[in-house]
Amino acid sequence: MPVKANAYGHGAVETARAALEEGAAFLAVAAVSEAACLRAAGIDAPLLLLSPALPEELPELAALELRPFVSCAEDIDALDNAAAGSGKRLPVHLKIDTGMGRVGCTPEKAEGLARRIAGSRRLFLEGVATHLSAADSPAPDDMRWTARQLARFGEAVSAIRAAGIDPGILHAANSGALVFHPEALFDMARPGIALYGYSPAPEHPLALPVTPVMELRSAVVFIKRARRGEAVSYGRTWTAHEDTFIATVPAGYGDGLPRRLGGAGFSVLVGGERRPVVGRVCMDQFMVDLGPETCVKRGDPVVIFGTGAAAGGGSPNIAADIARLAGTIPYEITTAIASRVPRVYED
Ligand SMILES: *Cc1c(COP(=O)(O)O)cnc(C)c1O
Repeated sequence: MPVKANAYGHGAVETARAALEEGAAFLAVAAVSEAACLRAAGIDAPLLLLSPALPEELPELAALELRPFVSCAEDIDALDNAAAGSGKRLPVHLKIDTGMGRVGCTPEKAEGLARRIAGSRRLFLEGVATHLSAADSPAPDDMRWTARQLARFGEAVSAIRAAGIDPGILHAANSGALVFHPEALFDMARPGIALYGYSPAPEHPLALPVTPVMELRSAVVFIKRARRGEAVSYGRTWTAHEDTFIATVPAGYGDGLPRRLGGAGFSVLVGGERRPVVGRVCMDQFMVDLGPETCVKRGDPVVIFGTGAAAGGGSPNIAADIARLAGTIPYEITTAIASRVPRVYED
């Protein structure tokens, strides 16, 4: 399971532990520093390293026994050097670029690189992987593109096998493939966003038994009466059109809430009721219009986004709703939740 970027904002160590308890065989990170945090927390599960490391990180990579993706002969030789002296073979995964255009070797080079790995005394080919660039889209053109990526992957794997080399664990599927391309499952899948509870394709609800994991909660810290015509927040973009009560909530873009949510139809659950956020979102605060009559009090809970389950009243936004309002994807919303926001874990 990918736990990169602090487990998509959920907290890497806690999420990693939960994933392993639920049976995940491998965890995946993007950076050596992320792997180091997991190892420091006592997590000794296999860790796949999805992004290429810098040359100076290779000794640490080997010491942490990470499983890097390799894309070229230079990667293989550098890792072979870095693994010297450890007395163990470092498992590597050959990454084939079948159309993502990011990292990986061309399908034609895969067999030669697999031979190079097989010929190393300090490395071994644990797996062969590719990444799909449009698997989250059921549009016919994208479906064909993914099929083409998978065909290229299959041909490269066949060439490796034909050379008498065991390609090991084959893996290609991200969340999009889980939903739209079951033929891409092979021996292992790498779904991230789906396991955090969101559909990789905003217009297609997830047909999987998962719900959003993250809930972003705050509380009302101040309430004031605004007279008709009074402005709220920076730039005076919103003014009360009647006498009303305004609540201040201590969360803002410094916590990872996009500033552009202000004026974008953003609403939150206050005391079980959906209320509109008014004026600009500040760094540390935003304001909510409670209406001309309210029984909301200081200290009342605010759900900024939740799991979709009604917590004592109306149904909250989920991070995917926030993403839509902000013109982005749920990945960016949960990943952006700042480190100053305490993570609290419930069973
Ligand atoms: C992040 C990542 C994934 C997970 O992608 P989701 O869309 O979150 O499922 C899988 N594979 C690689 C190589 C990645 O970088």
